[in-house]
Amino acid sequence: MSSRLLSWRELPGAPVITEGGSSIRYKTGNWRALKPILDSNKCIKCLLCWFYCPEPAIIRREDDSVEIDYNYCKGCGICAHECPVKAITMVEEG
Ligand code: SF4
Ligand code: SF4
Repeated sequence: MSSRLLSWRELPGAPVITEGGSSIRYKTGNWRALKPILDSNKCIKCLLCWFYCPEPAIIRREDDSVEIDYNYCKGCGICAHECPVKAITMVEEG
């Protein structure tokens, strides 16, 4: 039995995006296995999560508080890892 992983070209039905500027229409949040939960009582508004999030999934409000846009959050966990006060916890998507 081979243990070689398939490349993306070999995966059946792998999605291909042929049109630029279309990311706003693709709700990448449904890729998520883990979900970040924010405790706003612990948040010190340092904005590290906003800075490090690789997606436009952390919304920065005018007062520098933050909110998670689950339409685009892929559940990578970087925000939880970087938060200095552990205000973000990753939980299984249910
Ligand atoms: S889990 Fe990843 S994609 Fe989602 S908000 Fe945190 S850093 Fe952004
Ligand atoms: S990293 Fe943590 S403390 Fe800083 S803004 Fe984000 S949730 Fe708040």
